[in-house]
Amino acid sequence: MTRDEYYAFVEAVNAAEKISLRECEQADEARRYFEGCLPIEVLAARAPDALAFGPMRPVGLRDPRSGQRPFAVVQLRQDNVAGTLYNLVGFQTNLKWGDQERVLRMIPGLANAEFVRFGQMHRNTFINSPALLRPTLQWHDRDNLFFAGQITGTEGYAGSTAGGLLAGLNAARLARGAPPVTLPPTTMMGALFHYITYTEPVRGAVGRADFQPMKANFGLLPELDPPERNKRQRYAGYAARALADLEAALVEQKVS
Ligand SMILES: Cc1cc2nc3c(=O)[nH]c(=O)nc-3n(C[C@H](O)[C@H](O)[C@H](O)COP(=O)(O)OP(=O)(O)OC[C@H]3O[C@@H](n4cnc5c(N)ncnc54)[C@H](O)[C@@H]3O)c2cc1C
Repeated sequence: MTRDEYYAFVEAVNAAEKISLRECEQADEARRYFEGCLPIEVLAARAPDALAFGPMRPVGLRDPRSGQRPFAVVQLRQDNVAGTLYNLVGFQTNLKWGDQERVLRMIPGLANAEFVRFGQMHRNTFINSPALLRPTLQWHDRDNLFFAGQITGTEGYAGSTAGGLLAGLNAARLARGAPPVTLPPTTMMGALFHYITYTEPVRGAVGRADFQPMKANFGLLPELDPPERNKRQRYAGYAARALADLEAALVEQKVS
């Protein structure tokens, strides 16, 4: 998109009709969405340039026709082998379908696209892990019930896979009569499972959403001692500490 095309698109998104949220959702709108996958209309309403710095960021791309960097781009991800079906990456939305079609057709190249399925919000259902799970990913009062994946309140592929790994290892250990392991909170996996099992739980019957899904990120790790200001060295320090602590924890918990 050129600058003009982009701002016309943002204006159209802002003016488009949205599905109205239920009252309880409206009250909690600010904290309802995971920051990593905000609907396009929420981003557009925050600031005119927010989409251009988010899912429409043109980093590393040049228009092959002009050699110029575009002002904004959309990414089409191929969805079938025949190459006839594509999805628009990062375009979660609550725009009503009629308006959605009109607005999306403003994207250069999509004026005559056939829309097979319109964008909609996905709902992420998760249990109140801080109150219900142990850091071994076992149910709080039943040893042989394990949870893993986004239902535990971890977010994303890596977090889900990591949860499956730990829950699987611990289920196998339990079956062999060995105690389940916990991972040090200085490792990314340990930090994530520590977060979901120790953070402040949801309060009240309808769940004032104090506990929200969490993605693996460096903010979960305890600071290095002494703190390291240089980013590369800090990450290298996190990695070295994680490996050393993991090694020690596995020896201590007799994991071979
Ligand atoms: C549009 C979209 C884009 C995303 N993009 C990214 C991304 O770019 N990067 C990233 O890291 N994460 C991304 N995520 C998040 C990521 O997909 C999830 O965090 C991850 O897939 C969760 O894995 P999971 O195995 O816990 O759950 P799921 O993948 O949801 O698997 C749960 C499975 O259980 C099955 N199931 C449900 N109920 C039952 C039942 N009663 N009996 C039997 N089976 C049942 C379901 O059919 C499903 O197959 C995205 C999510 C969405 C929706």
